[in-house]
Amino acid sequence: MLAIQKSKSIFVLCTGGTISMQRTGKGYAPSSGHLAAAMEKIPEFSNPDMPNYTLYEYENPIDSANMTPQHWVQIGEHIQKNYEKYDGFVVLHGTDTMAYTASALSFMLENLNKPVIITGSQLPLYETRNDARENLINAILMAGHSRIPEVCIYFNNKLFRGNRSKKLDANSFAAFASPNFPALGKVGTDVVIRHHLARLTTTENFNLQKISEPNIGSVRIFPGISYDMLSHYLRSPLQALVLEAYGFGNAPQDETFLKIIRRAVKENIVIVNCSQCPTAKVKMSAYAAGSALSEAGVISGGDMTAEAALAKLFYLYSKALPISDIKRLLIEDLRGELTV
Ligand code: ASP
Repeated sequence: MLAIQKSKSIFVLCTGGTISMQRTGKGYAPSSGHLAAAMEKIPEFSNPDMPNYTLYEYENPIDSANMTPQHWVQIGEHIQKNYEKYDGFVVLHGTDTMAYTASALSFMLENLNKPVIITGSQLPLYETRNDARENLINAILMAGHSRIPEVCIYFNNKLFRGNRSKKLDANSFAAFASPNFPALGKVGTDVVIRHHLARLTTTENFNLQKISEPNIGSVRIFPGISYDMLSHYLRSPLQALVLEAYGFGNAPQDETFLKIIRRAVKENIVIVNCSQCPTAKVKMSAYAAGSALSEAGVISGGDMTAEAALAKLFYLYSKALPISDIKRLLIEDLRGELTV
């Protein structure tokens, strides 16, 4: 249940995304000031049951297809600047790259002790028929009252751990899922928050780890993948790679392919194996086709999403750690992103 405390104050940061967009001749496009105007027309946002909130809209809101690690840092800096002043944070964001941003922030916001709830919608708030109203109202309530000290995604009546989330549907209001970890909360006639699944609070000081933009790559294996192309890609300046392999983490047992992988590992390119199956935990020892990768020095991504693995690599490389520490931390659970 959510215990409503009216004195809570929430910082709502709008980065853009469909929730705040306007219809144009070229389809939905970001537009500043539009969200605030639409919210003013909805009485629920000034209902006394709502926590107090401050809305800050980016002057140049973006479609989240344009998100970059610099934007992650910008969002992190807004949270850092307002960390002491507010009880919780809502980040409004496009759905396309929401899982990446949620994963990145989960690592960057070190010793987070307050809820950071990311939400958006499939239809803009100003449309008569939309999912934005429910998502926004509930995200503000969750930020005020859930007491979950984590980066979460709230979408279509569910609260997910951010770094476990994936966008799985571009059409339905149920756009997100957390295939390898249960939802942290569900909203129906009752609001159920599963505190026993959430991360623990901390007494350590909050810190923002900025991202320095290392050269992180990603390759999805497919039958017929060009080894020539792969060989060119797996070279400096590449520093680390998320290899999306089949099923339990299997890849071709082809000597040319394995040679490229071995050479990359020898050149200190860290390769993390994530499954192409949304619901999966990599177990390279399950098949000879996976064991070969493990023997070549590829690291298991376990049940991490590819989005979380990428964000974790961005984070670990930004901390300028030695490769041996990066490899050790990749298989440790840092923010609930991995089942160990
Ligand atoms: N293209 C939009 C975005 O990610 C999609 C959305 O918000 O649902 O910004």
